[in-house]
Amino acid sequence: MIPYGKHAVNQTDIDAVVKVLEQQFLTQGEQVPAFEQALATYCQSQYAVAVNSGTSALHIACLAIGVGEGDVVWTSPLSFVASANCALYCGAKVDFVDIDAVTRNLCVDNLAQKLATATQLPKALVVVHYAGVSCDMQAISALAKQYGFAVIEDACHGLGGQYQNKPIGSCQYSDMTVLSFHPVKSITTAEGGAVLTNNPELQKQLVLYAKHGITRDESLMQQPSPGDWYYEQIALGFNYRLSDLHAALGISQLNRLDDFIQRRRRLVKNYQQQLQTLPLQLPDMQQVDTSAWHIYTVALKEHDRRQVFNALKAKGIGVNVHYIPIHLQPYYRQLGFKLGDFPIAEGFYHRALTLPLYPDLSDAEQTQVVDVLHEVLS
Ligand SMILES: *Cc1c(COP(=O)(O)O)cnc(C)c1O
Repeated sequence: MIPYGKHAVNQTDIDAVVKVLEQQFLTQGEQVPAFEQALATYCQSQYAVAVNSGTSALHIACLAIGVGEGDVVWTSPLSFVASANCALYCGAKVDFVDIDAVTRNLCVDNLAQKLATATQLPKALVVVHYAGVSCDMQAISALAKQYGFAVIEDACHGLGGQYQNKPIGSCQYSDMTVLSFHPVKSITTAEGGAVLTNNPELQKQLVLYAKHGITRDESLMQQPSPGDWYYEQIALGFNYRLSDLHAALGISQLNRLDDFIQRRRRLVKNYQQQLQTLPLQLPDMQQVDTSAWHIYTVALKEHDRRQVFNALKAKGIGVNVHYIPIHLQPYYRQLGFKLGDFPIAEGFYHRALTLPLYPDLSDAEQTQVVDVLHEVLS
């Protein structure tokens, strides 16, 4: 079976992890700060805070800006559930802004309209760079200033991509950017994530919430420190630390990120060429050379999705669907959302099919995917 996504781990990565196993610190050593520095440098942000998953990163990002009971956070319905769950973890409510049918990102016109008529403005907006294609951050940032809400970029698909000639993650138009290092993402630490920011106050809060709400920073303490043993718990935080084993893998992977992205872009261009005669709505190519291309998702124009999905699986092509709209999950329906609430995302979902895309996908394997797709759709 050719999977839809897969990590690319080599001997250098393995050696980097094994080396840490032979050293003194498996966690809270030098690898995590080095990984954070490497991420901040790559993304051109001031700070990076590494944690144990993208989901944890979203949670502490919401906590750092003070999302809590009585607040509402808006996001895209076409994402992984974690993009919305982070607000619920904080006791806030969630609402969604429907997507643009072409970019598949949260639609800025819908956002402007929803803001103009909202009874309660959002405390924060979590924007998702679907498939790695950046949202229109400049326009979103202008609305954020006008209405006074924070912007968190969920860039779990976006590491390695660019927006306006800067790396995704530079936070030029946002308060924070969240990354994931799950094996199918741009680089992997097995499990892992990070929050990037340019704001030193937010960085302090992020570190605090990722480490039990405990601080050794005297500027944050309520009492004068009586000695070096002293620490204070000043908030209810979590243990969201990344281990040094994971961080070492991350550092090693980050060295090859640009190669990974180049290969993904090459494969996407091949797909675009070889699938153009089929009855499919292919991804918009405006950002072909700036997207990180986490996934390659087509929309069927004529065929039944379940039939095509099953036929491809039966022939060894590991297709997937991104995403079941979050508001249609039973947990969210029970909060009051229903079918028809976000029709563009729902319509896309019914026709969507994600094809295999990862750096180690060979030309021969891609040809196999293309051939089977031609066979199934003809
Ligand atoms: C992968 C992903 C997450 C969650 O990341 P984890 O590291 O798996 O917790 C959140 N949002 C989006 C859009 C993702 O793709």
